Amino acid sequence: MMKEYIDEAEKALLHTYNRYQIVLDKGEGVYLYDTDGKKYLDFVSGIGVFALGYHNEEYNNALKEQIDKVIHTSNYYYNVPAVEAAKKLKAFSGMDRVFFTNSGAEAVEGAIKTARKYAYLKDGKTDHEIIAMEHSFHGRTMGALSVTGKKAYREAFEPMIGNIRFATLNDFESVKSQVNEKTCAIIFETVQGEGGIYPATKEFMEQVYALCKEKDILLILDEIQCGMGRTGYPYAWQKFSVKPDIMTTAKAVGGGVPVGAFLMTEHVAQHSLTAGDHGTTYGGNPLACAAINKTLDLFEQNHIIEHVTLEGKYLEKKLDELVCQYDCIAMRRGAGLMQGLVFQKPVGDIILKALEKGLILINAGTDVIRFLPPLIITDEDVDRMISILKEAIEEA
Ligand SMILES: *Cc1c(COP(=O)(O)O)cnc(C)c1O
Repeated sequence: MMKEYIDEAEKALLHTYNRYQIVLDKGEGVYLYDTDGKKYLDFVSGIGVFALGYHNEEYNNALKEQIDKVIHTSNYYYNVPAVEAAKKLKAFSGMDRVFFTNSGAEAVEGAIKTARKYAYLKDGKTDHEIIAMEHSFHGRTMGALSVTGKKAYREAFEPMIGNIRFATLNDFESVKSQVNEKTCAIIFETVQGEGGIYPATKEFMEQVYALCKEKDILLILDEIQCGMGRTGYPYAWQKFSVKPDIMTTAKAVGGGVPVGAFLMTEHVAQHSLTAGDHGTTYGGNPLACAAINKTLDLFEQNHIIEHVTLEGKYLEKKLDELVCQYDCIAMRRGAGLMQGLVFQKPVGDIILKALEKGLILINAGTDVIRFLPPLIITDEDVDRMISILKEAIEEA
């Protein structure tokens, strides 16, 4: 039966993914089931989206209630879920103003437009530059792709939006040397996800922050993957004595519903986008905002951040043991429940073996296995994951 679905999918869907050969059907907690009924322990959570696990009854009921009220109204009118979601997201992030989007890439687009408008209002010029990082990932739309530091993703789609320079994460000099009077923003992920799980260092964060403050350059932190509690802080930058001028969030913020946001300080809000500058038909619609509301409520009720801090330590310890046990593993990188195991060889075969054995894992680049489990995992789930992973490593 799965084979038939897969064959049909390959005839109908545009082939932009080499998909794993399973058809996922339903979920329960940290487990997913395929259409043949096979059970999988999920350490990917839909790429860091399903933070609260599958089939959370309270979350599902909140969505069902909203569906019965109204799903969509457009941004020409106010709606209660959006007001509530904006207030809660402000409190959770420490930022001042919110613009809801439908995806992460769109949040990055909005962040870029905000930075350009801020600079434009200062000097009236239209040649501002943005500094982004090598190995970064910010999404597949043209603006987000333009600041994505992987040439293979960009090449066929050139020309990108102009005036982007690339520097190296955690190499402050490489950033500083690119700054000039045209620089309007510096954008990076607090923990690079797609690019191989590279956390920004405290020193780098604080140096870039100070440079931005000194030169009135806007610091844009992309927290789409590393945010929403994943590193043991609401947003990963909160670990440091810095604050972004603009921040993006998506993936886990809606607990599974497609939604994102870019947020900014009051100062940037007062000196950038105004009525008519930006918009979206769906962004922040009542259904998406009901999802954000319930997600943020459940984060608080279930002490998710505190749980991640503890569980992240346990996952780190267990992964570190693997690094000691296996010569083919070079190191572990990451923070909280966003971890990467760096292998001395491509990891594709290990991931396939794990999948056969009922464990869902994902790579980040060719030689890193990435761990982005639902934030509700327990020690037992980690132990089970480790034991399957060991078998997969030994057989692959
Ligand atoms: C996933 C991701 C994006 C893009 O989000 P989409 O919702 O896929 O558009 C942008 N930045 C980072 C850091 C991401 O991990």
